[in-house]
Amino acid sequence: MRRALPRAGRRTVGAWCFVDHMGPADVPIGVGSDVGPHPHIGLQTVTWLLEGEALHRDSLGSEQLIRPGELNLMTAGHGIAHSEEGLGARSGRAHGVQLWVAQPDATRNGAPAFEHHDDLPRVEMANGEGTVLVGAFGGAASRARRDTDHFGIDVALRIGAAELALEPTFEHAVVVMEGAVEIDGAVVRPGHLGYLPVGRDEIALTVTEPTRLLLLGGAPFEARISMLWNFVGRTHDELDLAHDQWMAGDDRFGVVRSELPRIDSPMPPWRRG
Ligand code: MN
Repeated sequence: MRRALPRAGRRTVGAWCFVDHMGPADVPIGVGSDVGPHPHIGLQTVTWLLEGEALHRDSLGSEQLIRPGELNLMTAGHGIAHSEEGLGARSGRAHGVQLWVAQPDATRNGAPAFEHHDDLPRVEMANGEGTVLVGAFGGAASRARRDTDHFGIDVALRIGAAELALEPTFEHAVVVMEGAVEIDGAVVRPGHLGYLPVGRDEIALTVTEPTRLLLLGGAPFEARISMLWNFVGRTHDELDLAHDQWMAGDDRFGVVRSELPRIDSPMPPWRRG
């Protein structure tokens, strides 16, 4: 997989998108700590816990506790704000990931939305078990909203060999959350993202310890995205406007009922100095 690691500047794998300042080593995000109200545009947040609990609040009025095995899916569209309270103290630890999905032009200026799913379909595998978060895999389909042709599956694997069928028109990424797998002769551990370009119809995994990973995939995204902090768009002008409106308290993002302090948007790097 070394050969296939994302190049510097890669932003998307299908519609899955990764923060600009985040190297592949930083993709899994701890959600065990509190994050005060902050805005998003043009993306979906996908929250998935391995341990602990977190409380989501947003400017639509949603208030949702999330536990391991459940999915929180927030669609920002034209604008939303939210907060996350890590509740690890209640149950020991909080450990999970929050990933982003870029929205296509068809929906990115549309209404914000929030979904919670606690009945995700599971698929049996030769050497483990999968949970389909988004899209379809192995004959099972999630009911979670998706605006492009993409999927995400949590895979729990036992020590041994595993082979997963891939859709050759998709590009794929492997995010290891716990354990270690060998793919194409390279070991992928937590904090590393393996990238597989379009054209692959299978992935062979050698599992050297019990492993939890996310397999993400999708049709190459329709556009080159531009990112600033929590905003995904196409142009600096759009990102500048979102920044200015958040800092001005514009009602584009609504109000989150949270005790946590609101987080300021950092000045865009192209406007500094
Ligand atoms: Mn957020």
